[in-house]
Amino acid sequence: MTGLATLEARLAEDLACLALPAAPWVPAREGVTDVLVVGAGMCGLAALAELRLLGIDRSLAVDAAPAGLEGPWDTFARMRTLRSPKSLTGPALGLPALTFRAWFTAQWGAPAWAALDKIPKGQWMDYLRWYRRVLALPVRNDTRLTDLRGEGDLLRATLQTPQGPEVLLARRVVLATGRSGLGGGAVPAVLQGIDRRFWAHSAEEIDFAALRGRDLVVLGAGASAMDNAATALEAGAARVDLLIRRATIPAVNKLTGIGSPGTELGLGHVSDAWKLRIHHYAATQQVPPPAHSVRRVAAHANAAFHLDCALTGAAVQDGRLRLDTSRGSFATDFVIAATGFRNDFADRPELADLAPHVLCWADRADFPADLPKDGPLGQAPYLAPDFTFRERVPGACPALARLHCFNDAAMLSHGKVSGDIPAVSVGAKRLGRAIAAEFFAEDVETQFARLQAYDTPELREGDYHAAPHLPQARRGG
Ligand SMILES: Cc1cc2nc3c(=O)[nH]c(=O)nc-3n(C[C@H](O)[C@H](O)[C@H](O)COP(=O)(O)OP(=O)(O)OC[C@H]3O[C@@H](n4cnc5c(N)ncnc54)[C@H](O)[C@@H]3O)c2cc1C
Repeated sequence: MTGLATLEARLAEDLACLALPAAPWVPAREGVTDVLVVGAGMCGLAALAELRLLGIDRSLAVDAAPAGLEGPWDTFARMRTLRSPKSLTGPALGLPALTFRAWFTAQWGAPAWAALDKIPKGQWMDYLRWYRRVLALPVRNDTRLTDLRGEGDLLRATLQTPQGPEVLLARRVVLATGRSGLGGGAVPAVLQGIDRRFWAHSAEEIDFAALRGRDLVVLGAGASAMDNAATALEAGAARVDLLIRRATIPAVNKLTGIGSPGTELGLGHVSDAWKLRIHHYAATQQVPPPAHSVRRVAAHANAAFHLDCALTGAAVQDGRLRLDTSRGSFATDFVIAATGFRNDFADRPELADLAPHVLCWADRADFPADLPKDGPLGQAPYLAPDFTFRERVPGACPALARLHCFNDAAMLSHGKVSGDIPAVSVGAKRLGRAIAAEFFAEDVETQFARLQAYDTPELREGDYHAAPHLPQARRGG
C-alpha cells in the first residue's frame, strides 16, 4: 500500500471506531434535497462533510468553478505559501487522519514534515482535493446558483449547469461562497468609472505577462497587495509603486495573536457590544501582510512603498493612467486594487429576491452612532446562532430562517469560524449540529410516529418467566 492508501485505511478505521457517518435519519421528502451547500471551497467542504457525518446524507454542494479549482488557492491567490502555520488542523473536524499533517506525512514522511516551513498554496489545494475525494463528498462543479427564493417551507434554487438551467428544492441552503460571498471586491470610488483596461481587482484574473516592462501601481498594504506586487515584479514589470494610506504598514496580527479555543468558541458568544468593540478594534488595527510577502517585494530595487499616500483621483491621459494622491500626481500603466472585499448584495444577483429582507448590524437600534452604517461592520448580516439570516421586518421573509451564511460575512456574529483555516472545523460543527437539531424538531411528528412504530424486540419469549407468587413474608420481618 502507498502511504496515502495506508492513511486512507486509517481514516476508514477511525471513522468506524467512531461509528461515523451516522446512519441516515432525516425523513426523505420526494424530490427534496436536505441541505444544498453553495460553494465547495474549504468552508463548503467542511460543512458538507460534517452534515454527512451527522447522517444528513441527502446533502450536496455545487460550485461554479471547475473541479479542483474552487476558491483562491490555484486561481487568484498569488502568494507562494499560506500565511498560516503548518500545524493548523483546518477542516479536519477533529479527525487526526484527515489533517494536512497526516496527508503530508503519509506521502513525504516525518523528516519532510519537520523540514517544511510554510505550506505551499498549491499543496494546500491538493490537500483539499484529497479531502473531498477521501470523504466521497458529492459536489457538482461548473454549477452556479443564479436565483434563490422561498417556496412553501422550502428554498427553491435555480442552478446554471453545463446542461442548462435546473431547479432544485432544498430544506436548507448554506452559503459557503467565500470572501466575496455576499458582495464582491471593494474598489475605491475614483477607479470605478475608469476603463477596465487600466485596472483590476486583486481577486480577478490578471495577465501579468502583459505587464512586463510596464509601470504598475498596487493599492493597499495587505497580503494580497504584496502578493500581486511581487508577482508583477517577478513577471518583469518596469516598476511597482505601492500606495499605502497609512503612515506605517501594520505589523501586529492582533486577532490571530490571541487565537485560542476561547476566541474560537467565545467570540460568537459575547454580547453584541463586545462583538462590535472587538471587531472594530481589530479592523482599525488591521492585519499585517506576512513578513515573507513583504520581503518578496522589498527584494526588488524597482519596488517602492509610498506611505501616507491616499489615492484621490484617476484619469486616462495620453494612453496612460494619471493618478492623484495625497502626496502628488504621477502616471502609470496599470493599477491593481488590493483593497479587499465588501458585503454588497447588489453584486450578488442570485440573492436579489431575499437580500432586501436581510437584517444587517446597522439596522439594529443599538448599532453605535459613531460607526458608519455603510461600513463593513454595519453591512455585516446580523445572524442567528445557527448562522441563518434574520428578517429586517419579522414575518416578511420566513425563507431566511432556512438560509445559513457560512462565509466570511458571518464573522461579526460568529467569530472567525467560517472563513480562515484555524477554526473552520469549529464553525462547521456549530452549523451541522444546529441543522441536525432543527431537522429533528421540524420533523418531530414523523420522529414520534417512528418512535411509536418501532417494534423490534430486544427480549424474546423465554428470556424470563413471570413468578406466580410474591415471596412469603419472613418471620420477624
Ligand atoms: C489570496 C488569499 C489567501 C489566503 N490565505 C489564507 C491563509 O494563508 N490562511 C488562512 O487561514 N486563510 C487564508 N485566506 C482566507 C480563507 O482561508 C480563504 O479565503 C478560503 O478560501 C475560505 O474558504 P471558503 O470556502 O470560505 O471560500 P472559497 O475558498 O473562496 O470558496 C467559495 C466557493 O464558492 C463558489 N461560489 C461563489 N458563489 C457561487 C455561486 N453563486 N454558485 C456556485 N458557487 C459559488 C466559488 O466558486 C468558490 O469556489 C486567504 C484568502 C485569500 C483570498
